[in-house]
Amino acid sequence: MMSLKRPREGCDDPNCPFHGSLSVRGRLLEGTVVSDRMEKSVVITIDYTKYYPKYERYARMSSRITAHNPPCIGAHRGDRVRIAECRPLSKTKSFCVVEKLEGEV
Ligand SMILES: [Zn+2]
Repeated sequence: MMSLKRPREGCDDPNCPFHGSLSVRGRLLEGTVVSDRMEKSVVITIDYTKYYPKYERYARMSSRITAHNPPCIGAHRGDRVRIAECRPLSKTKSFCVVEKLEGEV
């Protein structure tokens, strides 16, 4: 398993990478929570810049990723979070929130 900071709280979610049996591997991304209205899921936007050689300009792009939000993390709208890739948890979820990035922007 990747070296991740363990959350202070515990939980009994089987899909939690810290207290359940979910293994996280692959990509590690940082983004901002834009929706926390689903049960144990959040929508994250990741902003990045893409270079277009034809115009010699960078364009700001963003992508949206649905991620699992275990109760011990409990990310809310507006939080900066780190997400890690895991097995597909549902049709749209194959990432899990592993850390809230407090104060680091
Ligand atoms: Zn947990």
